[in-house]
Formats: sequence, C-alpha cells, structure tokens
Amino acid sequence: MKLFVKALCLATAGFSANLAFAENCKVEIEGNDQMKFNKTELTVDSSCKEIEVTLKHTGKFNKTIMGHNWVLFETKSSEAGIKAAEKAGAAKDYLPDAKLMVAGTKVIGGGESVTIKIPGKSVKKGGDYIFACTFPGHSSLMKGKFIVK
Ligand code: ZN
Repeated sequence: MKLFVKALCLATAGFSANLAFAENCKVEIEGNDQMKFNKTELTVDSSCKEIEVTLKHTGKFNKTIMGHNWVLFETKSSEAGIKAAEKAGAAKDYLPDAKLMVAGTKVIGGGESVTIKIPGKSVKKGGDYIFACTFPGHSSLMKGKFIVK
C-alpha cells in the first residue's frame, strides 16, 4: 500500500510538471457571420514539432457567401499573398502559390470546421507573421498576428 501511494504521488508530480511546461502547439480560432475572427493574436512555441490549427465557422451562412479560411503569411509577403489568394478563386480555396504563404486551410461555411498541421520548422522563433482570411474582401477585418515564442 505504501508503495502504491508513493508511485501515485510521483505520477501526479510528473503530470503537473508536464502541464507547467506544456508546449503550446495547438491553437483554435473562430470565424463568424459578421466577418470577424474571435482572436487577433495566436501564439505557439518555436519548439513545436507540429503546429495544429483549427478554424471553426460559428455562423450559418454558406461558404459561397460568407466563407472563411485561415492562411498564414510572412508579413513581408502577405500583401502579395492576399492579392494572389483572392485571384486564385473559390476552386483553389482562395489559396495563393505555396511560396507566398506558410500554410492555409480550405474555405469553410457556417457550422463547419477544419484542422491543419504545420511542421514546426516552417516558422521561426520571433519571426514576423500574420494570419488572414483570404475570402475576397475579408482580410481587412479578418487578420491577426501569429507569434512564435
Ligand atoms: Zn472570411
């Protein structure tokens, strides 16, 4: 019995230590029918092997009317990237050429969600990144800062 209690304590201590040092490798963001994201900033750790991003559309509108995606850009290429994305059209989920973005999701409509995984090495600690929805006309309202700590 004594041994069991000791093992349990060790296990609990290990668990809380893990929690305290947990890497922030999963982020979630919502888009709505008011053409807004619910966050203007997302933060991940540079030590993540993989970064998981989930976009949820909490609205009701169809993706052809109020579609949202989530696209990650290096800030310096974001202007060109957003232009290219809008040109790419719905068939390409408003995603630009891979060289103009870091990663991006497909376009979703109300009630849908999408998750992508980005290799951690595709972003740099302290780098300058922004995310945006590239559905035509949305990026002026739907964008934010992506921070790699
Ligand atoms: Zn949008």
